[in-house]
Amino acid sequence: MSDCLFCKIIHGEVPSAKVYEDDLCYAFDDIAPQSPVHFLVVPKEHIKSVSEITPENSGVVGHIFEVIAKLAKEKDLKSYRVVSNIGEQAGQSVLHLHFHVLSGRDMTWPPG
Ligand code: AMP
Repeated sequence: MSDCLFCKIIHGEVPSAKVYEDDLCYAFDDIAPQSPVHFLVVPKEHIKSVSEITPENSGVVGHIFEVIAKLAKEKDLKSYRVVSNIGEQAGQSVLHLHFHVLSGRDMTWPPG
């Protein structure tokens, strides 16, 4: 999608600190980290949010969670949180499906 920030990052039109890439997904450090480790994993296909996951496109979600598990092992993350915000009230600011991976500090539950 031409006006989507994360599509531009995936295509190298906007710079990012790449963490991982394969045919289906791209991972990069969050520009405003909320914890010592904070990266985002996004599908290369433009999907707006969790609410647009369907039987046709859901395969990439399982793949992304495999990638998250692999990256967490490589980074030796003992404890971490995976978050996807859906919609404005939940705090979604970029309308391209993404999973935040946060680690390296104590976290509260429920979140604020
Ligand atoms: P959300 O608010 O859940 O939609 O998450 C969007 C995330 O994208 C926020 O945590 C932002 O800090 C992050 N972000 C925005 N622009 C960039 C960028 N150019 N590079 C990396 N992360 C970004």
